[in-house]
Amino acid sequence: MDRRSFLAGAAGFILAAQFIPGASAMGLFNKKDEKSDFPFKLTEAEWRERLSEQQFNVLRKEGTERAFTSPLNDEKRSGSFHCSGCDHMLFSSDHKFDSGTGWPSFWQPANEKSVGESKDYKMIVPRTEVHCANCGGHQGHFFNDGPQPTGLRYCINGVALSFKPTET
Ligand SMILES: [Zn+2]
Repeated sequence: MDRRSFLAGAAGFILAAQFIPGASAMGLFNKKDEKSDFPFKLTEAEWRERLSEQQFNVLRKEGTERAFTSPLNDEKRSGSFHCSGCDHMLFSSDHKFDSGTGWPSFWQPANEKSVGESKDYKMIVPRTEVHCANCGGHQGHFFNDGPQPTGLRYCINGVALSFKPTET
């Protein structure tokens, strides 16, 4: 096999493997690459300086806060929810609902530039990971069992959010 056909074969394998369920879970591919480039960037040391330990664990390490621990779970005032890492606006109280899960839940992001999504293969069933579109900070996960009109449920860690009440 010459070099050219070897390379073509390797490319074919990579393409095919992307469609094999579980390929990513086996560590063949790092889907997180799609999260590597964001407008707001800091070094790990700068993030540690800026964030509390709990915020760092969720935003930068994709941790999950314990259910029913965030005061924002019960926040019912009108206002906007921003990324606690970079202050980018992510969600609006207009789209918040009580999902009963113990995490702040929204049926859509504030606007189309608020959040990005990536596949998360940590569990057996792949989930869709949700992150801040500005700094890439992990926010939570997205599910298809939310209320109308979208039927979506953005299940978000309260520690990854900061709430700004609407000024009256
Ligand atoms: Zn952010």
